[in-house]
Formats: sequence, C-alpha cells, structure tokens
Amino acid sequence: MLKGVGGFYSVLVSPMVYQCRLRGRLRLDERRVLPGDRVVVSIDSSGQGIVEKILPRQTQLFRPSVANVDQAVIVQAVAEPPPNALLIDRLLVLAEHAGLEAVVVFNKADLGLDSEVSELIGVYRNAGYPVITTSAKTGKGLDDLKQVFAGRVSTLAGPSGVGKSSLINAILPGANLQTGAVSQRLGRGKHTTRHVELLQLAGGGLLADTPGFSQLVLPSDLEKARLQELFIEFRPFAGDCRFTGCLHFKEPDCAVREAVSRGEIAQRRYDNYLVLLEELLDNEQNRY
Ligand code: GDP
Ligand code: ZN
Repeated sequence: MLKGVGGFYSVLVSPMVYQCRLRGRLRLDERRVLPGDRVVVSIDSSGQGIVEKILPRQTQLFRPSVANVDQAVIVQAVAEPPPNALLIDRLLVLAEHAGLEAVVVFNKADLGLDSEVSELIGVYRNAGYPVITTSAKTGKGLDDLKQVFAGRVSTLAGPSGVGKSSLINAILPGANLQTGAVSQRLGRGKHTTRHVELLQLAGGGLLADTPGFSQLVLPSDLEKARLQELFIEFRPFAGDCRFTGCLHFKEPDCAVREAVSRGEIAQRRYDNYLVLLEELLDNEQNRY
C-alpha cells in the first residue's frame, strides 16, 4: 500500500497502481492499514480494487507511521550544517532498534570534505555501515544512492537543511518536492494528520516522502542492557567482558573498553554510547 487518503488506498501491484477501498470489516479501524502494508486485493472488472486482508508486518515506524520499512538512510551534510555524530549515532540506534538496516549518506560533497568528515566516514565504515558521499547539486554519488534504494523500502532520516528533498528530487525527477518540503512535513505539533506516501523509485525501490524518526528520544521500551547491542561493532567483544551484564561503563576487565583503547572500536562511538546510556538511565529514574 503506497498511500491512503479519505478512504481510498493506492495499492501497487507492480507495475500497476490500483485505487482500492477497504473490505467492510477492515473499515472498522482504518488506522490499522498503513503505507507499506502488504495487502491482498481483489480487482473487479472495472479496475476497482478492494483490500481484503492486511498481511503481518515485518517492521513498524511511528511518527510518521509506516509499515515494512527495511532501511534507514541517514543523511547528513559535509557542511552547512556540519555533521553531528551524536545525531548519527542516535539515528543508528533508533534504526537498529526498529529492526532496520542503515546507510549513512554525507551530502553536499561539492562543498569539500574536511578532516572531520573524512574521519567520520572512516568511523562508520569501520563500525560496519555502508557510507556514501553525494551531491544533489553536481550529481556526484547519485548512482550509488540509487543502488542503495533499489528493491527496498526506505526512509530518510536527518536534520533539516542537509538536502533530503534535493536528493529525492535529483533521483526522482517527477517528485518535485519543494526543497525544505520533506522536513517541513514533519509534524510540528498541529500537523499530526499528515499522510505519508511511499514514492516509487525508478530502480524498483520505495521511499517514504516524510523522514522517519521525528521523535529523537530513545523509546521507553529500550532497556539499558540492550543499548550495547545496537552499537553493532561492540557485539564481537561484549561476550569477553568479565561480568555478564557488563554495561561497558566502569566495570573492570571490560572487553569493549579494551577494544576502544586498542582503537578497534572508535572512541567517539563509545563516547556517544555513554551519552545515550546515561539518557536511558535518566529516563529509568524518572519513571519511578
Ligand atoms: P532538507 O531540509 O534536508 O530537505 O534539505 P533541502 O533539500 O531543502 O536543502 C537545504 C538547502 O541545501 C537548500 O538550499 C539546497 O539548495 C541546499 N543543498 C541541497 N543539496 C545540496 C548539495 O548537494 N550541495 C549544496 N552545495 N547545496 C545543497
Ligand atoms: Zn564490558
């Protein structure tokens, strides 16, 4: 399902898109069907479709609500605004927690990569994430970006001004989003009824037209012991800590901290892990 507006649902039955209504009993709760849902439809002889059944979801994002996203494409600019590593790490944690794969994109490469950006590219590649540099302005890296989107359902994430709308426009000439449009669509309080739409990309992928992870607070169902699993490069070491349940904070004989001191885990990833861990501990305290 690509989008639903006013009781009509656009359902992609590749390469066709059918306008569908919901079968009566599904209509009882229209909020139950989300863009990205895989559905069973029947098409009558006039080409009108009926959604008969909603299939189980693999993933679900909230605010905006989209089902079955399989990848978060985290966008930063190399400059204007400068990249924010803590925000990247936070978005990676949210993506991992939601069960999504993640890719990091540094846009505005035409402005030049300084040493900070080059270092960050190394940090995320070493952590295990694909990293690409793009320029919506010159077209650099757009073929790589198309490859990233091909055949999957993606959401963009990242702050406003980094070029998300410009990138969508550059790889999807029909989209014609106003620059700045993607981020302005984020509900700022009152725009809560906005409809998300999945855009069809030429390579066969689908892309949500509204960035994901508008809520940057770590979800309340995220346990502090689980945060470390969302820093994927910690995983090979965590089993070697002296204490089971080690949070890699101040515990003695911590294999994760040893890996940091050997340079096998990036210091700045570890530092941001501690920032997010502290946030979870604060949330926990405030709950009681
Ligand atoms: P969004 O808020 O993330 O959707 O960002 P926009 O697409 O609205 O872009 C914000 C500003 O950055 C606009 O003025 C764009 O023209 C500019 N911009 C976007 N991509 C690039 C790029 O690759 N290079 C440069 N130099 N500017 C860009
Ligand atoms: Zn440890």
